[in-house]
Amino acid sequence: MIHLRSAAEIDAIGRGGAIIGALFDELQLRVTPGVSTGELDRVCEEFIRAHPGAVPAFQGLYGFPGAVCISVNEEIVHGIPRPDRILGDGDIVSVDVGVTLDGWCSDSAYTFEVGEVDAETRRLLRTTQAALDAAVAAAVPGNHVGDIGAAVMATVEGTGMGIVRDLVGHGVGREVHEEPQVPNVGRAGYGPQLRAGMVLAIEPMLSLGTDRIKTLSDRWTVVTADGTRSAHFEHTVAVTTDGPRILTGSTRQAEAGVESGLGTP
Ligand code: MG
Ligand code: MG
Repeated sequence: MIHLRSAAEIDAIGRGGAIIGALFDELQLRVTPGVSTGELDRVCEEFIRAHPGAVPAFQGLYGFPGAVCISVNEEIVHGIPRPDRILGDGDIVSVDVGVTLDGWCSDSAYTFEVGEVDAETRRLLRTTQAALDAAVAAAVPGNHVGDIGAAVMATVEGTGMGIVRDLVGHGVGREVHEEPQVPNVGRAGYGPQLRAGMVLAIEPMLSLGTDRIKTLSDRWTVVTADGTRSAHFEHTVAVTTDGPRILTGSTRQAEAGVESGLGTP
């Protein structure tokens, strides 16, 4: 079933979500050439646990071995952090973080540039951010889940990039993954109708090539089937009568008046 959350419950989800927004501000400084994904995982876990009661929601979820998922270049999602996975200049790294606080979950992802990335990679990151912005804007009462996927498709059309279809967004609440599924492709007006109180993780994943994916032999890491680079941006968003409310935005950017919490850090 699809849950509708009260204003107080949405505030509670937002308290955990704000930890992720602040963590991503911190990671902007920590993601540099030479750092390992294992070290970034340690930074994330310590940052989350420094907030009383907060725990990394993905740690042990379905048996996942890290505190957060860290995926490099052609890896799309579910990368396992490792001390021997060293980031190099020009890489991109997607960090996907879940937080549970006071029994409420939040979920957000951001793809960081490591040092100087090439123009094509920057275009991928900008397009994926724009797809998330458009998808979030579609999360209003009266729209349907299909309007969210349609907004992603409209943003990506003509860019030559692939939209990963086999992985989807989802409801968020007491569990990290709740109903409904929120695909990144869709038709406006189709799917469950959006109502005030729904809380959704909206998370477009794009590639510079194919939309097909495969899973590595570690049984976790999902990569693009053609090895092209992939980006992933995600926010937990509440559908409200006042419009979409991003619950995992950057504190720093919110203070600077950037509404979406995205844009150039
Ligand atoms: Mg996520
Ligand atoms: Mg998610």
